[in-house]
Amino acid sequence: MGKDILSFRRRTKIVATLGPASDDPKVIEELINAGADVLRFNFSHAAPEKQKSSVEQIRALSSKLGHHIGIMGDLQGPKIRIESFKQGSVNLEQGQVFMLDTKLGSSDGDETSVGVAYSNLINDVIPGDTLLLDDGQIVLEVSEIKSSRIICKVVEGGLLTDHKGLNKKGGGLSAPALTDKDKKDIIEAANFDMDFVSVSFARNAADIIEARQLLREAGGQGHIVAKIERAEAVDNINEIIDASDVIMVARGDLAVEVGYAAMTGLQKSLIRRTRIRNKVSITATQMLESMITSSSPTRAEVSDVANAVMDGTDAVMLSAETAIGNFPAQAVETMSELCIGAERHETFRRPRNNRLEDDFSYIDEAIALAAMYTANHLQVSAIIAFTESGSTTQWMSRARSDIPIYAFTRHEATRRRVAIYRGVYPASFDIVRAESGKIYQSAIQALEEAGVLCAGDLVLFTLGEMAGVSGGTNTLRILEVGSGKAVDAGA
Ligand code: PGA
Ligand code: MN
Repeated sequence: MGKDILSFRRRTKIVATLGPASDDPKVIEELINAGADVLRFNFSHAAPEKQKSSVEQIRALSSKLGHHIGIMGDLQGPKIRIESFKQGSVNLEQGQVFMLDTKLGSSDGDETSVGVAYSNLINDVIPGDTLLLDDGQIVLEVSEIKSSRIICKVVEGGLLTDHKGLNKKGGGLSAPALTDKDKKDIIEAANFDMDFVSVSFARNAADIIEARQLLREAGGQGHIVAKIERAEAVDNINEIIDASDVIMVARGDLAVEVGYAAMTGLQKSLIRRTRIRNKVSITATQMLESMITSSSPTRAEVSDVANAVMDGTDAVMLSAETAIGNFPAQAVETMSELCIGAERHETFRRPRNNRLEDDFSYIDEAIALAAMYTANHLQVSAIIAFTESGSTTQWMSRARSDIPIYAFTRHEATRRRVAIYRGVYPASFDIVRAESGKIYQSAIQALEEAGVLCAGDLVLFTLGEMAGVSGGTNTLRILEVGSGKAVDAGA
């Protein structure tokens, strides 16, 4: 096993989606070396046996490279799609009539109509509704519903190919978030010991609670990601945040439902709310879209990534860029550089202590926030949290700071989950087996060897008196590197 990599410059984390372009251990190694922190599988595509071997490869690579990589399984969800065309595609002209037919044969589409497998669509739409195909490229207005057929007028035409997605502007498609396939995939996610499971098209807290329950019943300990990609999810956002561990601002589908112009403001408020409620956020989709075919990003993409970082997102995500693009590793490298660049901005580096007016519910929560207040004001060089579940570091990373937060833990699952927290870096450390009286010294030594600390630096530690007990953090201690005091301060 390799030694943990501990010297980091970037606080914002990177989620990279795997697909045909990255379906090879060599490319996965490149993605990890380029800075990917979490790798995402799409349950929509890969077969379970294939995923199992990829998960094993990633685990082996991460221990070889000394990076703790989280693995995310993304459920397909009830994405509504058109069926296919006899000729593979049709060209729709503005103003023409086009029908969506829930009873049409699955490959019988032509320029007059196409099939839709979701039979309840006829009950979810009324005349006047706007339906969007292919991420909003094609726009239809519903004029009439006649038995199985939804008769529409084409408002924006263009080339429409097989199996394109369908959204309703403003939301309101009633399909439940967890399909039968998703329920089976949750069991696979538990079997593969995935660190994150993302629920696509979540509508409310109940969807998240159900996914979590199914995962736990199957023995999975992963964190639940709610993908905010339906207009309803925005209406129910507080209950969804409280029910989940992580929120994904899934801008691909969400922008289609709420309208592009509302998306940027919505991204800011979703990230802010998530942070205030002590949860974690991912900003996703088309962040470096042009890098699917080009080795460098556009100026607009550069700005988009930087803005998500300045909004305070924990992680930024790459989708097609790493799944099907020509430059998967370069996309991660570019993302990483852009994050570091944005994090250098002056307003952004100024520490901001959060929740100064709040009452705290837990002792470990109070210690975590006191630690950030102290660390930011005293300007310590590093924070080392001896942690079991990682929750102390989650609370810490909600405060704005430029001080690295190290999660020293004996649990591999914790190391892989904290990998997504902004400014938190996992390290293997067995506090239960550590030589008594040398806990601080050996933690400091690991960071000195990594070049993070040197003599005279201050380090802030948090830990529990009962080492190894989850939720037991009750101690905050500050030591000076090289002063000799670290030796006798054993817990
Ligand atoms: P997807 O979801 O990548 O699974 O489609 C993200 C989004 O809609 O933005
Ligand atoms: Mn989506």
